[in-house]
Amino acid sequence: MVYFCCMAAPTSFTAREVEIQELENNYLIPTYARYPLVIDHGRGCWVYDLEGRRYLDFLSGLGVNALGHAHPRIVKVIREQAARAIHVSNLYYHPYQGRLAHRLSRLADMDRAFLCNSGTEAIEGALKIARLYSQEAKDKFHVVALENSFHGRTLGALSATGQAKYRTPFEPLVPGAAFARFNDLEDLRAKVNEQTSAILLEAIQGEGGIFELDADYLRAAEELARRCNAVLIFDEIQCGLGRTGEYFAFQRSGVKPDIVVTSKPLAAGLPLGAIIAREPVASALTAGMHGTTFGGGPLACRVALEFLDILEQEHLLEHVQRVGAHMRACLEDLKDHFHFIKTIRGRGLMLALDLEFPSRPLMLEALHAGLLINSTHDTVLRFLPPFIIREEEVDRGIRILRKLFASYKPAPQV
Ligand SMILES: *Cc1c(COP(=O)(O)O)cnc(C)c1O
Repeated sequence: MVYFCCMAAPTSFTAREVEIQELENNYLIPTYARYPLVIDHGRGCWVYDLEGRRYLDFLSGLGVNALGHAHPRIVKVIREQAARAIHVSNLYYHPYQGRLAHRLSRLADMDRAFLCNSGTEAIEGALKIARLYSQEAKDKFHVVALENSFHGRTLGALSATGQAKYRTPFEPLVPGAAFARFNDLEDLRAKVNEQTSAILLEAIQGEGGIFELDADYLRAAEELARRCNAVLIFDEIQCGLGRTGEYFAFQRSGVKPDIVVTSKPLAAGLPLGAIIAREPVASALTAGMHGTTFGGGPLACRVALEFLDILEQEHLLEHVQRVGAHMRACLEDLKDHFHFIKTIRGRGLMLALDLEFPSRPLMLEALHAGLLINSTHDTVLRFLPPFIIREEEVDRGIRILRKLFASYKPAPQV
């Protein structure tokens, strides 16, 4: 764990910022190593601190704010729906849950959906569906995921997450998980067998540092899942819903998974997750076997429908492809100038630079220079800008990075 005490000095804080930070330090369960910034509000691709200083948001609240901040259509629909019904119990119907399930099923070319509140909750549900679907066969409860994957923090999703730093403190976890090496078909074939109930993959690993699975690999995984009667689950929580310039990142491979799990940008910042599934897998889950209090409420569902409308009507997938290609070209140019950039990875607006040294200090310098980016997987700088970002805004962020890179001296490694 790295804490602020050993990093670049933060800019000085005002009394109000200090008060906010101290309250959290004293009263929050200390799980978050926060960056030194108090965000007050946002507009489009920019966020503002309490002093009115603005920051260009290349991170979108970790992939959530795909429409940036304060999108007028989202604000309008939230106002309208909040005055009608924010929540109704899943004991009753409301007009938006079925519509959203229909819409998501169509987009993923699947049959049914279940709405919940977060990514990890959607993974939990998907793993439960896989278990039920596999129930007839004895011992068929194993899950094969990948090394370096990230599927969430609840115990089931954590059990299928292939990173020791998240898992080890909480062991023993749910039994039956195995982790195959990334993009290594032989290893996947060695680990999947008749006892496998689910194969769980991210088409592009997000938290793990933006690593993309080959289309051939996805196709072979599908074949393997069919052969062993295992449920093929794609975790599109981060790479899905337009981030790569397609509705779902797996779609370029032509593979048909059994379940797609998605969440982050789905309700434009409100908590919402979805399990989208094909028959007969989808109907393995029957009345009373799964549920949620908040999931699929009218406010979140209506906002998600508006989000999907905006994606379509404003041609944001094409926009993501175009601006993403521009951003990638800018990153290529940076790489030509700075030898410490080892690789550029990703597609669409899900991009990363892998550096020769830890990336977190640079992320902090970028913050001080007015640019929000993320450091993940030790040496990686991750970029997940809002889908609505314009080329001029990309250029502006790249100029900030170029300046930082030109003057940056990594601390000596110990
Ligand atoms: C963020 C993320 C999750 C977990 O989602 P939460 O909403 O934080 O529970 C799972 N899988 C992937 C790929 C993610 O990026």
